Amino acid sequence: AKGNGKGGWQRYQSDLHTAMMQRLEMRTALHEAIEEEQFVLQFQPIVELVDQRITGVEALVRWQHPAKGLLGPFHFVEAAEESGAIVEIGAWVLVEALRQFTQWKTENPETTLRYVSVNVSARQFRGTDFAAQVRAALTETGARAEWLLLEITESLVLKDADKVLDELKALRAMGVRIAIDDFGTGYSSLSYLRQMPVDVLKLDKSFIDDILHSRQQHALVDAIVTLSHNLDLAVVAEGIEEAGQRAALDAMGCQYGQGYHFARPLWPGDIPALAVQPEPYP
Ligand code: C2E
Ligand code: CA
Ligand code: CA
Ligand code: CA
Repeated sequence: AKGNGKGGWQRYQSDLHTAMMQRLEMRTALHEAIEEEQFVLQFQPIVELVDQRITGVEALVRWQHPAKGLLGPFHFVEAAEESGAIVEIGAWVLVEALRQFTQWKTENPETTLRYVSVNVSARQFRGTDFAAQVRAALTETGARAEWLLLEITESLVLKDADKVLDELKALRAMGVRIAIDDFGTGYSSLSYLRQMPVDVLKLDKSFIDDILHSRQQHALVDAIVTLSHNLDLAVVAEGIEEAGQRAALDAMGCQYGQGYHFARPLWPGDIPALAVQPEPYP
């Protein structure tokens, strides 16, 4: 609103003030939400594309807001990253996801579930010793390191490369696996990633959307899958919404998928692999 005729500067000042107040309010609200334990987790199945059996779940945070109802990450994760509240929220998510997963594994020894995937923000890598925090969370919950897959983004790997590299190596030495989330939306190349301690590529939904309609897009995903496998990286295709996409990806040799076609994010009690008699999913 700056400089739009008369009063522009004043309006600019008051807009700035409003924005500042909103940030401050959001910060306070997020802090209260942590104290009041208003965050909850849903879990979205990750399946084997060949038989649609559930192999893992991704923990996705939601805010059970006392007035506004259930809020998805879109409403608060960016603000939480800016204010730094994501460090506390992320610490809670990690412990809660591991606690829940350990309970599942203990109560359902037959489950096909092998791991829980947890999103990690760049902020959590800065400052304190993240690997030590993960170790403490594993100890506290009794979870095994192999049950945990940490999802980080390309930009995190590219920034602060040395510090991040050390942390990732320490985590992997413990047996924790690392995934690159939203692969393809950033600037890193596969050959660069191969030098990083990374186990899994999560191919962004934007790559999957057009594979049935664009030959180029199909060829690109096919090439990424092949190259990833040659580099010993497992591939999870994100955002699969149609049966045809599952079939096409399966035919390319892509092993894992996630998306509304299989299941939306679910409440903990609704995870299908937890049936006493494990059935192929769905
Ligand atoms: P993400 O890590 O890429 O997670 C996948 C998002 O795509 C989820 O949205 C999921 O509900 C959605 N999704 C899954 N399958 C489909 C599909 O077939 N079609 C469509 N249109 N969407 C699909 P959600 O839960 O709203 O989360 C959004 C983002 O918020 C996540 O994207 C992640 O970046 C962030 N986030 C979620 N939980 C956490 C957390 O605990 N910590 C941090 N730092 N970020 C989180
Ligand atoms: Ca993710
Ligand atoms: Ca993703
Ligand atoms: Ca995404």
